[in-house]
Amino acid sequence: MKYVLVTGGVVSGLGKGVTASSIGVVLKACGLRVTSIKIDPYLNTDAGTMSPFEHGEVFVLDDGGEVDLDLGNYERFLDVTLTKDNNITTGKIYQSVLEKERRGDYLGKTVQVVPHITDAIKNWIESVAVIPVDGKEGPANVCVIELGGTVGDIESMPFIEALGQLSGLTPHVWACRSAQPLLENTKEKLSRFCHVPADNILNIHDVPNIWHIPLLLRNQNAHHSILKQLNLLSIATPPALENWTRMAETFDNFTSSVRIAMVGKYVGLTDSYLSVVKALLHACIACCFKPSIDWIAASDLEDDSAKLTPEAHAAAWKTLKSAECVLVPGGFGDRGVRGMILAAKYARENKVPYLGICLGMQISVIEFARSVLGWERANSTEFDDKTPDPVVIFMPEGSRTHMGSTMRLGSRRTLLQTPDCITSKLYENPDYVDERHRHRYEVNPEVIGNLEEAGLKFVGKDETGKRMEVLELPSHPFYVGVQFHPEFKSRPARPSALFLGLILAATGQLNAYLNRHQNGI
Ligand code: GLN
Repeated sequence: MKYVLVTGGVVSGLGKGVTASSIGVVLKACGLRVTSIKIDPYLNTDAGTMSPFEHGEVFVLDDGGEVDLDLGNYERFLDVTLTKDNNITTGKIYQSVLEKERRGDYLGKTVQVVPHITDAIKNWIESVAVIPVDGKEGPANVCVIELGGTVGDIESMPFIEALGQLSGLTPHVWACRSAQPLLENTKEKLSRFCHVPADNILNIHDVPNIWHIPLLLRNQNAHHSILKQLNLLSIATPPALENWTRMAETFDNFTSSVRIAMVGKYVGLTDSYLSVVKALLHACIACCFKPSIDWIAASDLEDDSAKLTPEAHAAAWKTLKSAECVLVPGGFGDRGVRGMILAAKYARENKVPYLGICLGMQISVIEFARSVLGWERANSTEFDDKTPDPVVIFMPEGSRTHMGSTMRLGSRRTLLQTPDCITSKLYENPDYVDERHRHRYEVNPEVIGNLEEAGLKFVGKDETGKRMEVLELPSHPFYVGVQFHPEFKSRPARPSALFLGLILAATGQLNAYLNRHQNGI
């Protein structure tokens, strides 16, 4: 196994993750098999209990791992399926060492950071790097390791020590971020100061879209510098990046855009919904549009805001009303819920295409029960545990006392039993779909009959037939709610079916598309 360690940076958000995944893309384009590991030196066991305000979205893997959003970049860029062990945290390492200590594996020894923690880190890396992630047998050729956090932080030290022992820490390649391309003599100057050959100084300057980054690396011969260092030149082919060139250039040339209203709680930091944004992008590209995402803080839509912050309220409604489709993404806690309900009502009544994801589906059930069934105080027990009409309830198997990993998490099967519904058609009529979940609440099975009689249809269920996974409103051009998160499996060239449906509906192409596909064209 060969390792590429990507580290550095005293500030986050400059694109270390995108750089690391783009290096992976270029190596993959040279015919190598690539896997990746992300190291987050914080003490949390996983990202599951961290606020999206602080770290951006919590990405969910097939195996139920709640991980750093960079793993989403790796899955999308490298088209791989990672495991929760591909995200290492200090918490996980200490947990494994402490478990061993309690088992008596170190009996007689003093357990210390060096060598026990550092050995655990090395062993973890070496055993995870060989797990195949691309559907093929046997280990990959290269593992790209991204060390997050800030080098020099006390938390990162055990990792630095372990990685130093594993692969050495002298940099062979420097990647420099800049707004404008670097001048040649700047590269030379850097080379002299940093003891890295000028050819190994890569410049990642700002580009119109991120698909240009692998092309930028290839144009600077990054693959050559890296493969030479790894002694892999003999098995590599010249990089084949035609797909990436096509994506990067097609996107730059789109002239029309589609306006999407994203009504959520964490709209201050767009990384909070990174995979949703990427899934919209993938779907828009398939429809030849640029996405124009209007972020609406759900609470600005609420009646209270009309009194307290009238300008924000007016602006939020103006934005919602000018959108061509509405998306309510996942979320936790009751802030903004009333605003989301108003957005779902607006979309339902005005026949504006609507996609509700997880919380967004639960919102549409509450809204429908209140407006159509007249159950004015219908609610989820997450927001009002005394509601007379609990239409969304806590799932019996969840834990009320422990937060970490106690949700229904990861890939679950959803049976699609209504062949003529929009969802089935968009997924191309399979018997089932496997999508990723992350929730504690579900639609109350006892009210399904009432909701269906009033016109809401549940077209996807779990394997027991009791848990409702997909709803549609047949009287509406596109009104879909899903308990799972389709955004996590969307890929650049394979947009998620439901995001595609939303954008097709928003741009008036849905019926033509479905007819074409029904006739096998
Ligand atoms: N808070 C809701 C639940 O736990 C929705 C979760 C989500 O949107 N991911 O069921």
